[in-house]
Amino acid sequence: MLKMCSKCYNQFQFDEMIKIVDDFYVCKSCFEKIKISNPREKTTEEAQEDLIRHLWTILEYWYKESRTPDTFDKMAGLLHSVLTTFDGASGGMPGFKIIPNTTLEDNEFLSLFGESWYNDKEDIGGYLHELLNRYGPTDEEQNKMKLSKTRGDKLTRINK
Ligand SMILES: [Zn+2]
Repeated sequence: MLKMCSKCYNQFQFDEMIKIVDDFYVCKSCFEKIKISNPREKTTEEAQEDLIRHLWTILEYWYKESRTPDTFDKMAGLLHSVLTTFDGASGGMPGFKIIPNTTLEDNEFLSLFGESWYNDKEDIGGYLHELLNRYGPTDEEQNKMKLSKTRGDKLTRINK
């Protein structure tokens, strides 16, 4: 009987595998790697590297995605994937908190001009990718944008 290794995802004979916990079985090779890996908390630099490498992987995915040839759709897909990553729903990465970074001075300045300000304590992340379409352009607005593509050397105004 064959079973998939929970770490490398290759198939192995079940009786040659090692049980880690519950239904988490690994192959001999992965088990050896786990024994010598000495897991610990990642440093800030390691977390930054992981996040940035993950974002580049997402970009490569959308760049190569041939079923989505339109640039606008590719960028919307990229945006969705980035938010999905921050929300913690993207494989191999944890979620990230998104907390506005403001100062009391910013807030006072805004209030003087009659503007509301951001709460700098609440995490606004967690399901941002689910809100993407709610606050995004309608299909009609998207079509207008697609028709108004320019070479980027002059400003485009989208008439609503
Ligand atoms: Zn393995």
